[in-house]
Amino acid sequence: MQGIFQQLTPYLEKAMALTTALTLIEWDMETTAPEEAADATSSIIGLLSDEYFKTIMNDEVKQLLHKIVETEEYKQLTEVEQAIVTQLQKQYDEFEPVPQSEYKAYSELTAKSSGIWAKAKENNDFNEFAETLKEIIYYRKKFATYRQKKGQPLYEVLLHDFEPSFTMEQIDSFFALIKKELVPLIRQITSKNVVIDRSFNHRSYDIDLQREFCIWLSGYVGFDFERGVISEAEHPFTTNLHNRDVRYTNHYEENNLFNAIFSAIHETGHCIYEMNIDDEITQTIVGSGTSMAMHESQSRFYENMIGKSKEFWEGIYEKLQQQFKPVLNDITLEQFYLAINQSEPSLIRTEADELTYPLHILIRYEIEKKIITEDIDVYELPTIWNDLYEEYLGIRPQTDAEGILQDVHWSMGEFGYFPSYALGSAIASQLYHFMKQTIPFEQCLKTGEFEEMEQMLKEHIHKYGMVRNTNRMLKDMTGETFNASYYIEYLKEKYRKIYDL
Ligand code: ZN
Repeated sequence: MQGIFQQLTPYLEKAMALTTALTLIEWDMETTAPEEAADATSSIIGLLSDEYFKTIMNDEVKQLLHKIVETEEYKQLTEVEQAIVTQLQKQYDEFEPVPQSEYKAYSELTAKSSGIWAKAKENNDFNEFAETLKEIIYYRKKFATYRQKKGQPLYEVLLHDFEPSFTMEQIDSFFALIKKELVPLIRQITSKNVVIDRSFNHRSYDIDLQREFCIWLSGYVGFDFERGVISEAEHPFTTNLHNRDVRYTNHYEENNLFNAIFSAIHETGHCIYEMNIDDEITQTIVGSGTSMAMHESQSRFYENMIGKSKEFWEGIYEKLQQQFKPVLNDITLEQFYLAINQSEPSLIRTEADELTYPLHILIRYEIEKKIITEDIDVYELPTIWNDLYEEYLGIRPQTDAEGILQDVHWSMGEFGYFPSYALGSAIASQLYHFMKQTIPFEQCLKTGEFEEMEQMLKEHIHKYGMVRNTNRMLKDMTGETFNASYYIEYLKEKYRKIYDL
């Protein structure tokens, strides 16, 4: 007799096919489709998404799922099959308790909310977005209560959507550590008034030459062109159909060389993760990176630990100078290294340096916690935001656009997402600490030998996709679960050296 799990297979395969088609259409819309295509293509996306939903959320699948968990069969499934069942169950837990009418109202709201946010940002007026945000918060909180376990903090429900293997208590103490250790360090650096000149980044760099260099750079750190494609879009992002078709976009500006270079390395980190997913699980619902935080740890490991190290540029700085000859002729390697690592409090998260970045996230974390756990008046949010910037970074936004309206996330209902960015950097530091003890790390950076690093990441993290969670993989690889002290240690050591503290 056919096992219950086997009976689920056709549903799962169809769902994967639909997901792949959707990913491909969305990629095309971001990269090559003409502007006028948007309306008609969006309706196709709507239909396919609906079809995906029906394929996986229906009475037959639900019954099979119940049967598997109740019978002995679950125990006999492989680790991968068990992970697939768990993942499927999670989708039911998320959507099933939400009444159809509420879900519909929320979908209608989020279909237009990003547009309202974008307009408010353009007009630099939070009030235009406030009522919409209020409604989004109402639904997000309501939906979270449906899934809340007894005694669980409501915000943790949302945090688990992006990083399921951390408790809120862990994340609280992570941010407490950031506040305690990094705020004074940033103050110390600011008060020292060291001038690092990075103005050369805004000289003129030919776009074709940038593109050529960035594509070469991706390959240099490990991008596999047999399994991947690099294109262009307004914002850099990575997407994947499966482990043999992983794609990323970059964005080139004539007067900003660093942006393109570090986007290239960052997105390559995301791509390498997806390219290394095991053949056995790619094209299944667990065949992608395990969490947002883990994904971000891989991109940041490549961008920061590799791409912003001095040793890395020792190996290729001459090549960079050659590429843009004579624009960088008067800039030494040391000047270049200091410029790419300069730290200075700034208002915009996406432009922040490695050291001040986690403070931007700390601010969002504290605000989200207030939003989800307290009955806060949304009209107070801009002031709360600005006060926190002043307290932690010593600067105050003068407008909503450079303050509370800068990020798109809340307009899409994404609460609990931001912490993943900072957790990602912290995980990257833990991996870095471990690797330095295991392989001749600095030597590899100089000579451009990244295979051994990649192999370690592949064997312990990449290949498992979502079959194992972040903490489990960290423990298996480094011998301990998440430990934020490596992040603080890494930042302190690096920036004390740069600023001679
Ligand atoms: Zn990223």
